[in-house]
Amino acid sequence: DPVLHLEGIGKTYGKDGPAPVAVLHGLDLAVARGEVVALVAPSGAGKSTLLHIAGLLDTPDRGRVLLKGRDMTGLPDKARTEARRRDLGFVYQFHHLLPEFTAAENIVLPQLANGVGARAAAARAQDLLGRVGLAHRAGHRPAELSGGEQQRVAFCRALANAPALLLADEPTGNLDPETSDRVFEVLMALVRETGLSALIATHNHALAARMDRVIRLNETVA
Ligand code: ADP
Ligand code: ADP
Repeated sequence: DPVLHLEGIGKTYGKDGPAPVAVLHGLDLAVARGEVVALVAPSGAGKSTLLHIAGLLDTPDRGRVLLKGRDMTGLPDKARTEARRRDLGFVYQFHHLLPEFTAAENIVLPQLANGVGARAAAARAQDLLGRVGLAHRAGHRPAELSGGEQQRVAFCRALANAPALLLADEPTGNLDPETSDRVFEVLMALVRETGLSALIATHNHALAARMDRVIRLNETVA
């Protein structure tokens, strides 16, 4: 089974109103185990909608969402939330780290919420920080880190609970081009080392070309 399989998904906003907007139009997309897929889309093509549906934060109006072969489409919110916590990691353009906590603590907290013991969580945080070259920043708060460092900590947090699939929305989009390239390399190395699958939305065609496969969403008018 692919890690993620979106089967014929479509979504219509404002269905009951005067001006419905249909997006994704029966999209099929599968992400295999260990595969890193780039998602390139012009603004308005439905990139956010797709990532929300894949992230089990939204449901399609048609089609199915299979995560590790399991149909998530009709499941109650509780089961979807559990699957999200267990199987998915998220990275956004902005790091969304908790400002009052250190880099290590930001990686420990989601593990504690997932039932991991404090000692094991701290060890995993330190291991992940080492992999992104930030072992020496473990005790620093986000405001004490550069933009690239903050984003690297956010990658570690996304991987804290060893998800099956990473969903990333412009993960280096907030960084200057040079930093973006370096931080992207770190992300790719981390993904490869951990055997993670990833769906990474980006406007950067050079970055997209370095992934296993590129999916393009076309801007289509309903
Ligand atoms: P992208 O992330 O590619 O810019 P989105 O998935 O955010 O695209 O949106 C795709 C289309 O759906 C856009 O035309 C947008 O205006 C419309 N849309 C998104 N969310 C809503 C909503 N909550 N209500 C109505 N229309 C929406
Ligand atoms: P980069 O070139 O990686 O973007 P910067 O030039 O912004 O890094 O920062 C260089 C170093 O200074 C980084 O290691 C960062 O952790 C540290 N640093 C940046 N801002 C602060 C801050 N406000 N407080 C403490 N250390 C900082």
